[in-house]
Amino acid sequence: MAKISIDLTSGTIEKEKSVIGIDLGTTNSLIASINPTDRSPYCLGTDDGSIVPSAIHFSASDILVGHEAIAKMVESPENSIYSVKRLMGKSYDDLEKHMSFFNYDIIDTGEEQLVKVKIDGKQFTPIELSSYVLKELKALAEKKLDQKVNKVVISVPAYFNDAQRQATRDAGKLAGLDVLRIINEPTAASLAYGIGLNQEEQKTVAVYDLGGGTFDVSILRIQNGIFEVLSTNGDTFLGGDDIDQAIVQHWINEKSINLNTSSDRQKLRLVAERVKKALSSEDSHEAQTELNGEKYIFTLNTAQLNSIAKPLIDKTIKCCKEALQDAEINSSEIDEVVLVGGSTRLRQVKKAVQEMFNTSTINDSLNPDEVVALGTAIEADILAGNRKDILLLDVTPLSLGIETLGGLMDVIIPRNSKIPNQVKRQYTTSIDGQVNMKVNVFQGERELVADNRSLGEFELKGIPAMPAGLPKIEVGFMLDADGILKVSATELRSGVHQEVALKPQYGLTDKEIEEMLLASLSNAEKDMEARSLIEAKTEAEQLIYGTEKFIKDNPDLLKEEHVNEIRGYLTKISQAIDAKNKDSIVQYSDELNAYTRSFAEKAMDKAIGSALKGKKV
Ligand code: ADP
Ligand code: MG
Repeated sequence: MAKISIDLTSGTIEKEKSVIGIDLGTTNSLIASINPTDRSPYCLGTDDGSIVPSAIHFSASDILVGHEAIAKMVESPENSIYSVKRLMGKSYDDLEKHMSFFNYDIIDTGEEQLVKVKIDGKQFTPIELSSYVLKELKALAEKKLDQKVNKVVISVPAYFNDAQRQATRDAGKLAGLDVLRIINEPTAASLAYGIGLNQEEQKTVAVYDLGGGTFDVSILRIQNGIFEVLSTNGDTFLGGDDIDQAIVQHWINEKSINLNTSSDRQKLRLVAERVKKALSSEDSHEAQTELNGEKYIFTLNTAQLNSIAKPLIDKTIKCCKEALQDAEINSSEIDEVVLVGGSTRLRQVKKAVQEMFNTSTINDSLNPDEVVALGTAIEADILAGNRKDILLLDVTPLSLGIETLGGLMDVIIPRNSKIPNQVKRQYTTSIDGQVNMKVNVFQGERELVADNRSLGEFELKGIPAMPAGLPKIEVGFMLDADGILKVSATELRSGVHQEVALKPQYGLTDKEIEEMLLASLSNAEKDMEARSLIEAKTEAEQLIYGTEKFIKDNPDLLKEEHVNEIRGYLTKISQAIDAKNKDSIVQYSDELNAYTRSFAEKAMDKAIGSALKGKKV
């Protein structure tokens, strides 16, 4: 059977193209593709391996990304940018507590505005900075695959909010990429292990992701190919970097060293990381380096590393317990655990996780650095239509709604709704002659909006003055495939097109909002197209099944020529299903229904007749 791909962004049928997945990490990023012969995912790498450090260095003449940027970090830390992911979609207020973490200059561009980074007198948005990393990955993939790459899937943490997801999408756009979908990292990691690829399978999975600077654990329920995030927990300032710092501190104490320059601090941190990594396969390791112009030899053994890492690992286990509590399940209900992130190579981490979830099914056979990237490539392959019968649907983890009279939460899209999703509801005014109406959008499960999370607000202006209760204001919620929400409001009675000014939480400009709105409109429509194909197909398959049964059950009603005619339609429908042609599926199904109607009526009469016969009057 010929394979036909549907391009979900344009809704068109296209020849098979290479599909790409990207893990845009806090510390490291990776890009993965699919092997066209067996559809297995693999990471595209350089001579240094598949990892591209998410680091950017600004030198006088150019911008370096990845390993080259890391190499420059020691000599000029102030022009080296790392952990940009932490800044995505964030305002200065959000970050204030953590400012000491960053060696570079983060500037406050005003209340509720997205932060910017100042390098050498120039300002950059986190979106721009991330786009440099994405551009590097794109170039790497194009070189390796020897073809243009532009359609991608990018992963983000499950706890990322709309602003952070939108920022990631924008970074992709800026890097010249067409972002087909933003996918949750734990979902991608599960896919890499094949979890959820079988539509019949029902599983509860814990994904434990300990990276360089962040830890998160997600409890997922997978059912009918739907990944539902039951809960997430974690610590955005906890990871392998903390172990490196603790090792540095251990050595400083041991040898009473004074580290005077940030360059020496960087140097020792890198030594600590190297030694730590070596200890996942050795019991003791030593390294030498020069600090303050003096030569030092540093050693560390497994027992020392274990006691250094213990407080950190204990914290992650506490988060796991909270995640289970929030998901309202206990550890025995976890069917599988997936390990993600470089730091899960620590032998002690594996042991602790195994004890915590008390399950034998710990998925750790894949390279933990690569798992997420591999899963994003599988998702991209599914979206490209290269894998038959799989349509990944996500659900929204929290209810979305607006504030109504008295500060009540009126849920418009309930939690666990499939996305993409679109709901419209009518409202009216509460005051005579009211010409403006405020629409306040919230996320959460509580009855009062004050207890929920505000997503943004806007005002519908220019409602014609009418008595209270007369205007018909339609509020539309549209949740696109990435989990990004767009809200609209229209006064229906006046029929006048209203201008809507949306003021989201993080100071996006009106133009950006307009673009977001338009982008989501087109995406949602096209995703719906793909969905309607699947719906038509499911209906047609039921029709085929029912018709076959009808032929079998009614040999006395149907002559051979009738059966042949019906079979002819069935073949046409099957061919249309194989060709993924929605219109033909619907057309031939209708034709078959029209042809069989008279037989169905006869069968019905017969059934009623025999039923009457049996009845005692
Ligand atoms: P992120 O998701 O934050 O981008 P990664 O998943 O790439 O991060 O993990 C990077 C972290 O993994 C670093 O702290 C690194 O030191 C750590 N790491 C990598 N290999 C090992 C190893 N063999 N043993 C212990 N830690 C490791
Ligand atoms: Mg990661």
